[in-house]
Order: sequence, then structure tokens, then C-alpha cells
Amino acid sequence: MTTVLAVANQKGGVAKTTTVASLGAALAGLGRKVLVVDLDPQGCLTFSLGHNPDRVESSVHEVLTGEAALREVILETEEGISLVPATIDLAGAEAVLLMRPGREFALKRALATLDNDFDIVLIDCPPSLGVLTLNGLTAADSVLVPLQCETLAHRGVGQLLRTVGEVQQITNPDLRLLGALPTLYDARTTHSRDVISDVADRYEMPVLAPPIPRTVRFAEASASGATVLAGRRNKGALAYRELAEQLVAHWETGADLVTFSPAS
Ligand code: ADP
Ligand code: MG
Repeated sequence: MTTVLAVANQKGGVAKTTTVASLGAALAGLGRKVLVVDLDPQGCLTFSLGHNPDRVESSVHEVLTGEAALREVILETEEGISLVPATIDLAGAEAVLLMRPGREFALKRALATLDNDFDIVLIDCPPSLGVLTLNGLTAADSVLVPLQCETLAHRGVGQLLRTVGEVQQITNPDLRLLGALPTLYDARTTHSRDVISDVADRYEMPVLAPPIPRTVRFAEASASGATVLAGRRNKGALAYRELAEQLVAHWETGADLVTFSPAS
């Protein structure tokens, strides 16, 4: 059985793309077959995995509009994960899909053609709550919400959780909210911890551990077309590996996910 995880937050810069790439590489490192789907017209995931969105021949856009089969557009990457790339064409997909019945189901239907070839599919949602993100949430078994550990990180979370609730009511009753993932975490100050406590108090949503530390390695890695897992040992890679181990244990043996406790 394939497990599909959407990574969503309509705020940009919270590490959605970084989480999909790094977690994907970490899960592949644990021996799982991983497919990542770039649902952002900016194509940052595609780029950060070593493919140029401007030179990709067919992409998730053609899949969503029914012009190509999902298998035909899959690219391989040096990280050992398979990629459904995005190009700027995807910006026009919203308009095309809006005219169609069942528009929220386009990705789900495409993924169903893969016959469980992959153990895990990770979906990188764009920074909006439009029809692309609705496709991601409709196709997913669960959703993970990266939250940047900064003041006002909670802004927009209420709206996102309402959207998740609507998807659960209308297009995907089985969607599970896995929780928030604290990103760009600075362990040297109390500020990051305060932000997480604030989010945990405000919303009924588990906050997962470990928080992903802020480190310059992420910028270096994505500029070189690789993830932090590929380089030297570093705390960012360790955190994503720990998260990957937890998720695998959760999905495969039903183990509880470890949540963040601000006191520790
Ligand atoms: P989103 O997809 O939510 O817009 P990105 O994954 O593109 O966010 O991340 C935004 C920026 O933050 C990128 O430049 C990325 O390299 C950087 N970044 C992400 N995670 C970290 C981290 N843990 N430490 C430092 N920089 C990070
Ligand atoms: Mg992104």
C-alpha cells in the first residue's frame, strides 16, 4: 500500500519544499521507494532535485489536465527518489481545472494509476489554498503543516485548518491531520520554543518532534541541486532522518508520533 502525505501551508517560506525534498531523501535512505510531486508552479522542488523546470518536457500540469499519464512524466533524481516535476505552465492549471467537474480529484486519479509502485508519495503544495492545494489534500492520506518558528507563525493556520476540515467533509473523509512540524528552529533562544507553545495552545493539532533546526546547509544544498541528506553530516539532515524513522514506524507499526514538549 502506498502512503500519501501532503505538505501544506499557504504561507511561503515555511520550508514545505525543503521538507518534501529532505524527508523524501531520508525515507529513501531507509530503503523506501519514494515519489515526490511538485505542485508549485515555481518549480522549486524540481529545481532543488537537480532538474531545470524550464527544460522539463512534460510535467504535473499535463497530468492534471489529462494530456499525459503520470508514469510518462516521472523523472529520476540523484537522491534516489522519483520526481513528478512542475513547470510554470502549472500556473494555468487552476483556470483549466476550474472549468471541470471533479477538479479536486485530478491528482488522486493520477496517483491511482501507479498500482502501489511506491511506498510513499510526498506532495509539495503551493503557497495558496487554491485548487492545486485542494488536489494535494484530496489525494493524501495525511497532511503535515510546516510552521516557521517566528512570531505570527500562527497567522493563517486557522484558515488552513478550516480548509482541511472542508476537504474532510467534502472530497476526502479519510484525510488525517498529522500535525505541525516546527521549522527554522533556533535552539539557542527561547523564542522558537515560545512560538511552538503558542501554536500548541491555540490549535488542536499535535506539534511533532524533532523541530528542524535553522542551518545554512539548506540554502547551500538547494543551490547545488541536492538535499542536506547528500552532504556532510549535519544537524538538519539528522532531524529529517529522525522524522523519517518516526513516520515509518507510525505508518508501518502504528507507533505513536513523538510530539514536542516545550519544557524539554
Ligand atoms: P516553502 O516551500 O514553504 O516556500 P522553502 O522550503 O522553499 O519554503 O524554504 C524557504 C527558504 O528557507 C529556502 O531558501 C530554504 O533553503 C530555507 N530553509 C528551509 N529550511 C531551512 C532550515 N531548517 N534552516 C535554514 N534555512 C532553511
Ligand atoms: Mg515551496
